[in-house]
Amino acid sequence: MQHKSQTISILGATGSIGQSTIDVVLRHPELFSVFALTANRNIELLVSQAKICQPKYVVVADENSYLQAKQMFNAANLLCEVLCGAEGLQHVASANEVDVVMAAIVGAAGLLPTLAAVNSGKKVLLANKESLVMSGDLFVQAANQHKAILLPIDSEHNAIFQCLPENFCYGDLAASGISKVLLTGSGGPFLNTNLADFEKVTPDQACAHPNWDMGRKISVDSATMMNKGLEFIEARWLFGLDADDIQVVLHPQSIIHSMVQYVDGSVIAQMGNPDMRTPIAHALAYPQRIESGVAPLDFNQVANFSFTEPDPLRYPNLHLAIEASKEGQYATTVLNASNEVSVEAFLQGKIGFNQIAQVNNECLQQSQSHRLDTIEAVIDSDQAARRVTLNIIENLMSSKVHGVS
Ligand code: NAD
Ligand code: MG
Repeated sequence: MQHKSQTISILGATGSIGQSTIDVVLRHPELFSVFALTANRNIELLVSQAKICQPKYVVVADENSYLQAKQMFNAANLLCEVLCGAEGLQHVASANEVDVVMAAIVGAAGLLPTLAAVNSGKKVLLANKESLVMSGDLFVQAANQHKAILLPIDSEHNAIFQCLPENFCYGDLAASGISKVLLTGSGGPFLNTNLADFEKVTPDQACAHPNWDMGRKISVDSATMMNKGLEFIEARWLFGLDADDIQVVLHPQSIIHSMVQYVDGSVIAQMGNPDMRTPIAHALAYPQRIESGVAPLDFNQVANFSFTEPDPLRYPNLHLAIEASKEGQYATTVLNASNEVSVEAFLQGKIGFNQIAQVNNECLQQSQSHRLDTIEAVIDSDQAARRVTLNIIENLMSSKVHGVS
């Protein structure tokens, strides 16, 4: 089969998804050439990736690291141009030469570069779920207006996408013959931990996911199941679903990545070993298939499949996210911002694991409903929620110092 070679910018190249993307891209030099790689601060890794991928540009998002980056790229005799900051990211996400943009920056920092790719009508491989959580309505409108092609990288959404019928009608499950979308999640490392021990959980324990190897922020989100909550919101926007259309199912083995249930009783599941190179390869080659390096699933090794309902006491963040998605755009933006700040505070040892949901809940309680009609309004709301959250955390920390419980 004849494939046309595609030029790709990999935003967040030094992260977990970025590295897996490079792995798949390098397996198919005849199909992909790398236009740009971006990183926040990990210049050493960016240099070694640039040596192998030979991009035209590299972007260092953190402006304070720019001079050091310039020196390191010069010293390594690399010919690529070094850009920095928001402008650099914007350029490589929207340049004319680019066909495909992998949006794999973590957190709200991914919003503007991902939108730049959407506004330029690119094929956008969407790993940065936070951009949809923050700006779903505006994001989907922009994708339609600029004829961008959105392909989900999140393994669950990629699985759902693979299980949908060819004639899927966005936002109309009945017309597509679908009765439910079943969003699976492993339950993370604390599926069976005594709830009383949650306050002693350390960052390293929270980041040690039983099945997936991911960045630290999403690893903590998986442990609290905020990740599933963000994915619930992401699924609503990607496929035009009502909250009632989605059921979250715990499946600790992470072999089924999600399912679609049809009105005739059929359930179609997408399965595979838990390795992000599968959804990345699927989206890169769509609608064709390419080899990804992932070991084939061996059913003799998969001892059992089990399924349960998530316990709301164990995963309060999941409930918060589902309720926020019913509340509207301001609530999901506030929750996303609050969660980024509270997860960071947990990773820095400032608050306990069990306090992440408490802080998020308090931030939502303190926020008033408001309309978010522009990206500027989304960003203002995000910033305001961060300030509120920092305040809540400071109060928690000082009450701990002063012995108030
Ligand atoms: P990571 O922490 O491993 O990597 C994040 C990347 O973003 C790095 O390249 C980093 O340099 C860059 N970055 C960080 N802060 C930045 C900033 N302020 N400005 C610009 N760049 C910045 O994260 P990850 O696990 O690869 O996750 C990336 C995205 O993919 C997240 O949105 C996550 O939710 C999503 N995702 C990840 C996985 C996974 O398996 N890792 C699965 C599904 C979805
Ligand atoms: Mg996922």
